[in-house]
Amino acid sequence: MSQDKPHQNLAIIGHVDHGKSTLVGRLLFETGSVPEHVIEQYREEAEEKGKGGFEFAYVMDNLAEERERGVTIDIAHQEFTTDDYYFTIVDCPGHRDFVKNMITGASQADNAVLVVAADDGVAPQTREHVFLARTLGINELIVAVNKMDVVDYSQDTYDEVVSEVEDLLNQVRFGTEDASFIPISAFEGDNIAERSDETSWYDGEILLEALNSLPETEPPTDAPLRLPIQDVYTISGIGTVPVGRIETGEMSPGDNVSFQPSDVGGEVKTVEMHHEEVDYAGPGDNVGFNVRGIGKDDIRRGDVCGPADDPPTVAETFQAQVVVMQHPSVITAGYTPVFHAHTAQVACTIESLDQKLDPASGEVAEENPDFIKSGDAAVVTIRPQKPLSIEPSSEIPELGSFAVRDMGQTIAAGKVLSVDER
Ligand code: GDP
Repeated sequence: MSQDKPHQNLAIIGHVDHGKSTLVGRLLFETGSVPEHVIEQYREEAEEKGKGGFEFAYVMDNLAEERERGVTIDIAHQEFTTDDYYFTIVDCPGHRDFVKNMITGASQADNAVLVVAADDGVAPQTREHVFLARTLGINELIVAVNKMDVVDYSQDTYDEVVSEVEDLLNQVRFGTEDASFIPISAFEGDNIAERSDETSWYDGEILLEALNSLPETEPPTDAPLRLPIQDVYTISGIGTVPVGRIETGEMSPGDNVSFQPSDVGGEVKTVEMHHEEVDYAGPGDNVGFNVRGIGKDDIRRGDVCGPADDPPTVAETFQAQVVVMQHPSVITAGYTPVFHAHTAQVACTIESLDQKLDPASGEVAEENPDFIKSGDAAVVTIRPQKPLSIEPSSEIPELGSFAVRDMGQTIAAGKVLSVDER
């Protein structure tokens, strides 16, 4: 795929069944990102089964099948190009742990498409995802009001959904000037690559235009290499191959690297991208690599790989700003939920509640509060129960945010202010 255009990481968010996967399939199809021979094969299969002209349906079936085979780096990172950008979808919509993944996904995502089904409107996960997008610093939101075909392309229904979403954005203080709204049908292809005849009342941008008008993303920081490990494979002929996405910095064969918190290291022998050996990989690249002397049991998912002379930080404790999204009661010191940061999942104790903040102004509202509850923002001190590599958000934002999960849901999200190193 052409990488000479500026790159954008895009998150596709929204309530289950509102059409995220269908929209991704449609985007891949319309931007010609499904290889011609694959489409040709679909076309033949469709004709054999007497369903000529259903190539798009086959793209969708194929995506669904890939999802069932499990998360691989290939499907978690679908790619497509538009006139102006090269996009990577930073998460796999439809994945069971979508919200949890969004913490690693959306913290890297520059912008997001929020899919809201016209026949359902704002639903619980719409709120949850918008809240997270806001906390994790998504810049621009394109709100795609989907399934317009189901509501007969009704302008009234569209207007109602738009105003519901605007209310939601106002609640979480996401500037509505940073959001655009488009009536679409991912299924029928309305207002995605071509302007629909069915929505003559709409004269704003269609989806591909809106994607092209997104602002260019900030150039990556000059932070050192930080590569959270997603998986560790053993591949015959090569040996141990950790895989993951380079968040910051770069990697080349010959580099001396360190894995933290496992605290092992060595020299990088080979780096692979898209099944080919490369001399260099940089931010945003999904790589598999091999390090001299590192065995499969020496490292694990949740480790972060960095330069041996500037290794990833391992926290004894860290101070963070958190926002409580939903918790049935109150959170007090001593609470120990699971923290999800990059690819790591570690139980951490909230050791002290240091300050409660006014969520609107960010100013201190109360020192050492006894408890915090849903809707509160606070500065807290956290002690991981097992070694955890994490960085101050001000230094390496890509490695400085986390989600807090308990009882099967995301109860809080936050940013690391400072780290007290082990
Ligand atoms: P996800 O859970 O958000 O990824 O939703 P899916 O993409 O799996 O879509 C859920 C269901 O809605 C599927 O049966 C889709 O075929 C259907 N769907 C998605 N987009 C549209 C649309 O624009 N119009 C109609 N009629 N159905 C749609």
